[in-house]
Amino acid sequence: MKTEECIFCKIEHDNNLASIVYKDELTLAFMDWRQFHPGHTLIIPRKHFNDIRELDPTTGGALMSTLSKITQAVSVCFPNDGISVWHSIGSAAFQEVPHLHLHVHPRHYNDEFLKVYPDGPPENAVVSILEECAEKLRQILC
Ligand SMILES: [Zn+2]
Repeated sequence: MKTEECIFCKIEHDNNLASIVYKDELTLAFMDWRQFHPGHTLIIPRKHFNDIRELDPTTGGALMSTLSKITQAVSVCFPNDGISVWHSIGSAAFQEVPHLHLHVHPRHYNDEFLKVYPDGPPENAVVSILEECAEKLRQILC
């Protein structure tokens, strides 16, 4: 995607397109247009990255710092029994805007929003399967 077609890059260039709540050198936070519960806020890097896999450490650190600030503010300003923080990658994960963004969303007991395991959690995997998965990751990370 070209950045001039990206709605979040458009918001970065014209802050009047969104309800901005915070801005620093590398990050921007604004209200999501959809408010399932009041307080749903998005945090983006001001530079276009498709998702977290492309992120450099400096921007990543700034993004995490802003995420912490926004999450604290949302938890104080809006009724909640908890907060969900999430980032989606790709259409299978319901990423709707291909510009890295983090959601901060107030939660309430039994609100049925973003139910992680719709049919209840699966049973724990056996240790051998966990070790097989861990070895695949260790091979990439080392
Ligand atoms: Zn963008």
